[in-house]
Amino acid sequence: MEHIISGVAKFQKEVYPSKKAAFQKLANGQNPEVLFITCADSRIDPNLVTQTEPGELFICRNAGNIIPPHSNQTGGMTASIEFAVAALGVSHIIICGHSDCGAMKGAINTEGLSSLPHVKEWLGHSRVATEVVKEKCGCAELNNNDHLGLVIEENVVQQLQHIKTHPAVAAKIATGQVKLHGWVYDIESAEIKTYDEATGSFKPVEDTDVETLAKQSK
Ligand SMILES: [Zn+2]
Repeated sequence: MEHIISGVAKFQKEVYPSKKAAFQKLANGQNPEVLFITCADSRIDPNLVTQTEPGELFICRNAGNIIPPHSNQTGGMTASIEFAVAALGVSHIIICGHSDCGAMKGAINTEGLSSLPHVKEWLGHSRVATEVVKEKCGCAELNNNDHLGLVIEENVVQQLQHIKTHPAVAAKIATGQVKLHGWVYDIESAEIKTYDEATGSFKPVEDTDVETLAKQSK
């Protein structure tokens, strides 16, 4: 914990002074362009991997980057998504899964979660991904060696479906005001793959994507 406290002191003394104007501008409001939903895993730093600054990403995190389908029961994800989309007016939503995801390992092996009842219940929202992978592979059971990567990708695809059930999101998508993006981040190589709805597959982010996005946002 000591290095956390000394980190705060370093931030205040060394980092803050060089960015004081930016923080003063942010002090009275935020206008993020992107709602970034990812796993709570400690190895993911959304601002680092996207090279963005405070104020640019509205970030929601949980185990497994899961978005429960809309229901009339209020939860933290539901409220945060509604606020980001309907109040802040974000124009992009990125759902970002990642390599070696412990939550997806849990979704594959739910029997190992008997001492973690809430985790087990939460990962029920990823069951759709494990069932799809089982069907595609023709396997009765999944395992981490052969199927983890597929489950991680399929979970992102299914959470993209779940978020569309949220009324605020559906309304903005229907009118072209919000675009959805599915990503998988590889911790070891820093590669980020994006979901291509047309082909139903993930492909690496390339320079061409950056150019296309730049044109779209003009
Ligand atoms: Zn994870």
